[in-house]
Amino acid sequence: MQVDISYEGDKLVLPQLNCSCGIQHTYPDIDIYIGQDLIKNIPDYLEPRKLGSSVVVVTDNIIYEAAGAAVVAVLEQSGYQVNLCLLEREERLIPNETALGEITLTLTNDTDFLLAVGSGVITDLTRYAAHVSSRPFVVVGTAPSMDGYTSVTAPLTLGNHKVSKPAGYPQVLICDLDIMSRAPYHMLLAGFGDVMGKYISRADWLLGDMVVGEKVCPLCFDLVTQAVERCINNAAEIKQQSIKGVRALIEGLILSGLTILIFGYTRPVASIEHNMAHYWEMMKLQAGLKPPQHGLAVGAATIYCLQFFERYLQLDPGRIQIERAEQAYLDRAACVQLVLDGYGEKIGSAIVRDNDQIGISWAETERRIQILAENHEQIRRKLAFLPKADQMLAVYRNLGYPWPASALGVDDQLLLNSLVYSKDYRSRYTVFKSASELGVLAELVEQVIKDLSN
Ligand SMILES: [Zn+2]
Ligand SMILES: [Zn+2]
Repeated sequence: MQVDISYEGDKLVLPQLNCSCGIQHTYPDIDIYIGQDLIKNIPDYLEPRKLGSSVVVVTDNIIYEAAGAAVVAVLEQSGYQVNLCLLEREERLIPNETALGEITLTLTNDTDFLLAVGSGVITDLTRYAAHVSSRPFVVVGTAPSMDGYTSVTAPLTLGNHKVSKPAGYPQVLICDLDIMSRAPYHMLLAGFGDVMGKYISRADWLLGDMVVGEKVCPLCFDLVTQAVERCINNAAEIKQQSIKGVRALIEGLILSGLTILIFGYTRPVASIEHNMAHYWEMMKLQAGLKPPQHGLAVGAATIYCLQFFERYLQLDPGRIQIERAEQAYLDRAACVQLVLDGYGEKIGSAIVRDNDQIGISWAETERRIQILAENHEQIRRKLAFLPKADQMLAVYRNLGYPWPASALGVDDQLLLNSLVYSKDYRSRYTVFKSASELGVLAELVEQVIKDLSN
């Protein structure tokens, strides 16, 4: 299913999206503008949406200098009543209860809508504040650093625990390429890494389809495939931070993000590579340390996952032994204990509460192993699109991407723990979970670490 995008002026035109896969979809009602020198046009972009005249602008001290002040000036000149919520931080802004409190306390009875000027964190905070206060919101994106601009979930932090809250998507999204191309290079790399993670999410999704009957939506799958191709094909331009490169990157991120909106949750774009990244982030937060940037973490985790897939797909079907899996099988109580050990009491018990896949029965495990054994060749064929970790590393090296995980502050122990424990973070089926059910997780993890340390 090929979905081509085009432009009317600076407005992104999506073709008529329709999909008959049987999964309930939401088709985006969102105006997306991508182009140069767009800030001056913001009032024109807002006008058709009739959002009202009183706006809370959410930004932080750094972005205020780079873009926020200009946005506020344009709005005020056009007669908008602007209340500024400036999230001032000396360190990186964390999307937690404090920041959310600052935004909600800036809202007044008169506030008609919210406008975020920023990238992931500011967008997610604004998304959630708009959602809980039943107001629409608009985003002026300032960096091509993640795929969440059009998402319908807000990853936030509560008491050092990551929570993913359902929320709405913006009515208008404005991506000024001049501003985005001036974003710090590591933010572009973060966006690139977030998109590269889609190799893994697509592979896991197909695996889930074959083994546990998850349905794959062909429309979302193709949108994500296009996103990945756009970014890979423009890696050299992205490295230059050229307008062409930044456009390709933000288009890739938006195409990916639209699938979250269409599909209703992040299945098409996030799987075990995101679990690993979230694990690093949670453990850092828990220790009171600075977590690695989301997209950078996802991109680094992707390499480990690619290598893991390589080892997993090499498993000799003759070696898929029921006896071995049965020996490694843990009952629910043991599985729960493992999660509590891996995540700590507080986060662990929240995961156990929300994840119905922890401690599945032996009968179900056996059924899945049977499917894997019978379909091994088909699985290999379907996942042949996965690049080798080496190939991807060559692209990363060329870009100057932080690698290995230790370059992001993830030490060997944290890396090992993430490879062992992140399978339980979410209920969705993944290659780590599959290996665990086969009784070969520890073995593959050891191989992967060894492979990649050379
Ligand atoms: Zn992501
Ligand atoms: Zn579909």
